[in-house]
Amino acid sequence: MSKKAGRRSLKAATRLVTAGRDPDSNYGFVNPPVYHASTVLYPTAADQVAHRARYQYGRRGTPTSEALENALTELEGEGCAGTVLVPSGLAAISTALLSVLKAGDHLLVTDSAYRPTRTFCDGVLKRMGVETTYYDPLIGADVGRLFKANTRAVFVEAPGSQTFEMQDVPAIAKAAHDKDAVVLMDNTWATPLYFRAFEKGVDLSIQAGTKYIGGHSDIMFGTVSANPATFPALKETFNTMGLCAGPDDIYLALRGLRTMGVRLARHYESGLHIARWLTKRPEVLRVLHPALEDNPGHAIWKRDFSGASGLFSIVFKPTPERAVHAFMDALALFGMGFSWGGFESLVITFDCAEYRTATKWSPGGPTLRFHIGLEDVGDLIADLEGGFAAMAAAHY
Ligand SMILES: *Cc1c(COP(=O)(O)O)cnc(C)c1O
Repeated sequence: MSKKAGRRSLKAATRLVTAGRDPDSNYGFVNPPVYHASTVLYPTAADQVAHRARYQYGRRGTPTSEALENALTELEGEGCAGTVLVPSGLAAISTALLSVLKAGDHLLVTDSAYRPTRTFCDGVLKRMGVETTYYDPLIGADVGRLFKANTRAVFVEAPGSQTFEMQDVPAIAKAAHDKDAVVLMDNTWATPLYFRAFEKGVDLSIQAGTKYIGGHSDIMFGTVSANPATFPALKETFNTMGLCAGPDDIYLALRGLRTMGVRLARHYESGLHIARWLTKRPEVLRVLHPALEDNPGHAIWKRDFSGASGLFSIVFKPTPERAVHAFMDALALFGMGFSWGGFESLVITFDCAEYRTATKWSPGGPTLRFHIGLEDVGDLIADLEGGFAAMAAAHY
């Protein structure tokens, strides 16, 4: 293989390590420098008048931001025309939606979407004259029945936030495209490594870079990648809104991306191991993890995904809240806090019953969401055993 040719055939693991790198422009150094930048100086008045420069202004991009944009676009692969970098995952969602919608449009959003996505739709989008209808995440091709003459976009997230329902993205995308609507996906859980969004019919693929791209719980970051039809409007919206991510965060995201493959492989392996272990615990009613064979979404996961992240939920058999709290308080290796995707294990309680509108969430017992980090899996299980012991003690 020549040095430049043949990148299209590279596997994702290789792209993660090599994409977006340009040592020739950086005195041979492996990584690009972090450009802290606003003004770009023009050499002559004529250049300034003609805006003749490789870079125009800090907000419009630097070699640092371009390195990561190029890396992510190449990682998305066939069908992806470009990527924008924004200051959070939620900003990625709002920017992507604003780039495809206008007043008078109708939007279909999965009932299992990340809650702040709904808040954006029910607040800002509603005020701007966009109507949102929430749909059952398991709807599949029947989503076509919910289309109105003004339906412009369908938003999917698989698996669902907190509850991990699996969506049939190719079927939904086909139904949407039959009606000339675009498909946006929050692909934070699987990342482009485990779900090839563009190959499955997605037009705009969103990631909360705060999670696995960053990977170290030290940045807020988001990305939107788009196909050739939707990228120009995405880029224009991004520019017009004045969005730009900070250079240090972009650099940390680029740094995180290089090791995302090995980190995700471990999150996948340890997460599934612990999910399986939890299915055998007498205290646990259900484990919501699509890679488990008896999960209702398993067939779709197996067909469309090539891996799983370290994020899943469990439903306890009915038990008093104090016992759940005793379980959580006894854990030493699982921090209690929001977000996920870092190297560390986390646990939170959640309840979707109060805000879902198209479906009813009644799990049958208290619910916890786990993020399985990169610690030794035996240590994590020993910690969970301690939690279950504290839970049993709390019953008396
Ligand atoms: C965390 C998260 C987001 C939002 O990302 P922030 O960087 O926290 O704004 C969006 N979608 C999903 C699925 C998430 O888990």
